[in-house]
Amino acid sequence: MAQFRKAESGKTAINNGLTFTVDEAQLAKLSQWLQEHDKKNHPNKQEWGAIRGRLKYLFTPTGIGTVVSAKCACGEEVDLTDYDSW
Ligand SMILES: [Zn+2]
Repeated sequence: MAQFRKAESGKTAINNGLTFTVDEAQLAKLSQWLQEHDKKNHPNKQEWGAIRGRLKYLFTPTGIGTVVSAKCACGEEVDLTDYDSW
């Protein structure tokens, strides 16, 4: 089983599992990006269907912090990394 060190920021604590969080500021940035993204790329939001699930969240732990991004099913991605906490 993989062993991970606790990140300096304390935001990545791993014992028996992995927990990653997206904070309020990151969600606000995602929400703003989605609005502009949908207007430009997906004017017909119904194309995602009833269960939605078109967003993927990507967390990449590094030695100095966790890179966070969200990716739309169309392939476009927005960087949500909180560099201020690094
Ligand atoms: Zn998209």
